[in-house]
Amino acid sequence: MRDGPARRLVKRVTRLVNSFELGVRRAFLARRGQPRYRLTGTCNGCGQCCEQPGIQVERFTWHVKSARALFLWWQRVVNGFELVSVEPKWRLFSFRCTHYDPATKQCDSYDSRPHFCRDYPVNLTFDALPDFFPECSHGAVDRKAAELVKALEDAGVPAEKMEELRKKLYLKDP
Ligand code: SF4
Ligand code: SF4
Repeated sequence: MRDGPARRLVKRVTRLVNSFELGVRRAFLARRGQPRYRLTGTCNGCGQCCEQPGIQVERFTWHVKSARALFLWWQRVVNGFELVSVEPKWRLFSFRCTHYDPATKQCDSYDSRPHFCRDYPVNLTFDALPDFFPECSHGAVDRKAAELVKALEDAGVPAEKMEELRKKLYLKDP
């Protein structure tokens, strides 16, 4: 259901807090040379990232019952995310988004979507091994790809092995 004025306002304030917090965290990561990858491609609107959005949480939210309940309540009531499954290994909650229309592949509240949605797939460039949806037209390339390719060439890696390494190590534009 499309967001009304009250929910839009709550989400706007939350978004400002989230983007400030994320900006500070990423400023620290930038000092450590992160993200490791550069995002490539443009969105083709396939909608896969909206079909079952997943949110990985901190240990505190995962383990503390009241924090977990509050998190899930917020996702359901404010963001319209209904819990579908949990993946303990990754502390990951997967949801069904009530704003997503699978027929049109559109979001009915795109201008008030949460910060989490706006950050995808840039957030993947901070992962050790970015994993994109099969239909996603984005990709990731190691920022040091040119240096790494040169080092592999200098080491005499054969051409066919080089192609395999380029794919595995994110050394080429997809
Ligand atoms: S709120 Fe909109 S952008 Fe975010 S997952 Fe739902 S449909 Fe996609
Ligand atoms: S999965 Fe990728 S291409 Fe598809 S809608 Fe999401 S960002 Fe766009």
